[in-house]
Amino acid sequence: MIIERFRADGKVALVTGGTRGIGLAIARALAEAGARVVVSARTDPGGSESLKADGHQVEYRQADLLEHGAAEALVAGVIRDHGRLDILVNNAGVADHGATEDFDDDRLDRLMGVNFDSVFRACRAAIRPMRAQGGGVMLNIGSISGHISNIPQKQAAYNASKAAVHMLSKSLASDLAEDNIRVNAIAPGYIITAMTEGGFANPEWAKVWTDMTPMRRAGTPEEVAALALFLCTDASSYMTGSVVTIDGGYTLR
Ligand code: NDP
Repeated sequence: MIIERFRADGKVALVTGGTRGIGLAIARALAEAGARVVVSARTDPGGSESLKADGHQVEYRQADLLEHGAAEALVAGVIRDHGRLDILVNNAGVADHGATEDFDDDRLDRLMGVNFDSVFRACRAAIRPMRAQGGGVMLNIGSISGHISNIPQKQAAYNASKAAVHMLSKSLASDLAEDNIRVNAIAPGYIITAMTEGGFANPEWAKVWTDMTPMRRAGTPEEVAALALFLCTDASSYMTGSVVTIDGGYTLR
């Protein structure tokens, strides 16, 4: 049955930033599909506790992905404790807005460190183990900001970090196809999470964001998670190197 292709029974998954927002919804989707899911974040288990309470196989690991070696240690720890890593979802990310002329090195290092460097490092760490086990899936969370320059906020560094995630995903997909490792990315538009709540609370920004979205609403983490489940399972077995947009039509105009 084709619906069986959306199952992830027996798979081991790692979702960075899986404690709230989009990452938490992806962790839930994978757990509901039967995967054992490790979520990571810097501060606390957040909503992952509720997944455990619902009986899902979910565990939390603390890791600050800004620290050198943290992404590699996270991947290695999952493989050490679970024997394999089938699904790697690089979701953790941060937003930072402001004019480029005022965007200092500390902000740039933090933004690129979480949004791009840690994605590169986690993918790098997963390649040999996935190759040795016969394959795997990587899913990186990019953004429509990797395709277009959002307004009214200025966010050149964020946009560039997400464009880098998209190109990394396509490059790895090409490099790793012969190893049965699929690599895709998701480019969400505006999604209601802690990351965007400040923006939606600003009437000027909220109006622009909504007016520019043909569906005239923001998306939910669960809507992104349904796409992520597709991309992480055999349902998408012939897809690699795709950057899939989910934005209520925002990038059509
Ligand atoms: P949230 O801010 O709600 O969640 C971010 C997650 O990343 C949290 O679990 C957070 O946990 C973790 N995180 C942040 N910094 C670090 C760090 N240094 N080390 C480890 N973990 C970290 O964001 P969203 O759910 O909105 O975003 C998820 C992804 O989707 C991001 O990559 C974002 O750029 C992307 N995206 C979001 C959109 C939106 O509209 N919301 C649109 C397009 C893309 P903690 O703080 O405890 O570390």
